Amino acid sequence: MDNCFRLEILSRPENVGLARVAVSAFAAQLDPTVEELEEVKGAVSEAVSNAIVHGYQGRPDGVVVVEAFLNGDTLEVHVEDRGKGIEDVARAMEPEYTTDPQRLGLGFNFMRFWMDEVEVESRPGEGTRVIMRK
Ligand code: ATP
Ligand code: MG
Repeated sequence: MDNCFRLEILSRPENVGLARVAVSAFAAQLDPTVEELEEVKGAVSEAVSNAIVHGYQGRPDGVVVVEAFLNGDTLEVHVEDRGKGIEDVARAMEPEYTTDPQRLGLGFNFMRFWMDEVEVESRPGEGTRVIMRK
């Protein structure tokens, strides 16, 4: 591993931008294109928003951990919450699956579209970790 950082934020929507900007500034070390950076920012926003909205269900006092690693030319981003967890990860990642009828259920799809790999580890009652590589 060539470099890494760790950021802990409270589960408030106003902190999503902080996570986006931090990962984007870190990823800039790889000399990405503007488009690649936008994709990374979009994926981070989706994952952090999910942690806040679904993981902590809008509770403002949860902690979301954002970590990023550089391995050669690869950026790896982890977004972790200790919230509700996901019963069925495969189902949650299906297009248009959502537990909130107000939403589109496309967040995981965007993450998979913008990043090369997306893995989700989750346990109900314990929390969720999303691992993305690009
Ligand atoms: P959208 O992202 O389009 O606003 P969404 O958040 O419902 O809608 P996804 O981001 O694809 O869609 O997530 C699908 C479902 O997976 C969510 O509705 C939720 O039930 C579950 N989920 C996702 N992330 C988490 C998380 N961190 N903790 C608990 N449940 C989650
Ligand atoms: Mg979402």
